[in-house]
Amino acid sequence: MADFHRGFDLLECVSCGLCLEVCPTYDILRDEGSGPRGRILLMGRLASAGSPGEWTHHLDECVGCLACEARCPAGVPYSGMLDHAHESLRARRPERGLAGRMERWALDEMLSDKNRLDRLFRNLRYMQRLGIFALAKMLRLHRLPGLDFLRGLRWMPRLNAPRKAPTARPKAAYYYFRGCVGPHLFAGEDQAARRLLDRLGGYREAKEETCCGAIHRHRGDLEGSRELAKRNIEAFAGEEEVVTTSAGCGAAMKEYGNWLADDPAWAERAREFSQRVRDLSEVMDAKILSTRPCSDPMLYSYEDACHAVHAQGISERPREILDGLATIQRVEMPHADRCCGAGGTWFLDQPELSETMIRSKVEELVASGAEMLVVANPGCRMQWERVLREAGVSAKVAHPAEIWAEHLD
Ligand code: SF4
Ligand code: SF4
Repeated sequence: MADFHRGFDLLECVSCGLCLEVCPTYDILRDEGSGPRGRILLMGRLASAGSPGEWTHHLDECVGCLACEARCPAGVPYSGMLDHAHESLRARRPERGLAGRMERWALDEMLSDKNRLDRLFRNLRYMQRLGIFALAKMLRLHRLPGLDFLRGLRWMPRLNAPRKAPTARPKAAYYYFRGCVGPHLFAGEDQAARRLLDRLGGYREAKEETCCGAIHRHRGDLEGSRELAKRNIEAFAGEEEVVTTSAGCGAAMKEYGNWLADDPAWAERAREFSQRVRDLSEVMDAKILSTRPCSDPMLYSYEDACHAVHAQGISERPREILDGLATIQRVEMPHADRCCGAGGTWFLDQPELSETMIRSKVEELVASGAEMLVVANPGCRMQWERVLREAGVSAKVAHPAEIWAEHLD
């Protein structure tokens, strides 16, 4: 039997169906196989099936938002089960041509090597400035055989070079986990986080930092994610809290203890490391922010990144700190905690479902009257910026760190 549910008992699910109410894909597809309860049954079928059947599309369609796990009264560990299902599916599917090779290259050669990634993004910035991406989009090159991965250019934000920020200090209160692609895609977020951490007692950097492993996990490469986890545990040795601005990275690193629980040489170190991981909002002190009065506050709406609200239980704290600022005023969307359809790299695999999910959220944002959307995860931000651009909605998108840094006293 495949080991994808090793350590889990599929019978822990008592089939109550409470998770169906919060599942975004069930809400759209209205099919038992497209909700968490059905998927758990299919994971059992996957364990005994020799080769993946037609029904495995139900597992592929899961965005991994973890709303079901957060809602489940029986404590079914859906996240870990899904990881192992992805691993099992990946092992049974042949690599898919150029796209498959591109994926392996990105996972093995790029995400896990910060220097290569820095060079890659430097080149991408030049290419963007020369208009090469715009041309590829205009010529619709993604329609050519084997080039469908170029669809991803739709999500590419304007790339900016790293911005000047306070430098790291050797003896600082925090470690800063900058993340792999985030600082390249959103240089302003990275700079804001550094400025805030500098004011909160300073930050150290880990020279050997590498990708958190979340993307490897999404793609079913659990072994690859565990190797990256070990490298980060080594890199961030010490007692300082490890702070990140990315909900996805934070959620992943808080799971290292579980990822490496079966490895006697690493289990204790991984557990200890996970306990030191913090989202920026968890260490943020509102006292460093100016409370200058404002008679005409900008309306903003807060989007809960799934890996903040469902995986880490972070939802109120960032709102409270933002609400302390007089220059902005919050208006809530009815489903602020429903997935935007980004899901790591899921939006590339399931473009239609992803589009349906984000479109309904855009309607809620427009109806709220918000002039700005605040979200603390790079994948969600790319999804929102792309859809607002294409829909001609003028609301801007920001990370809470950028708003806080603008208000440094
Ligand atoms: S992770 Fe999200 S999409 Fe997947 S089954 Fe759970 S609620 Fe549905
Ligand atoms: S809420 Fe939990 S126990 Fe109930 S059907 Fe969903 S996974 Fe099973």
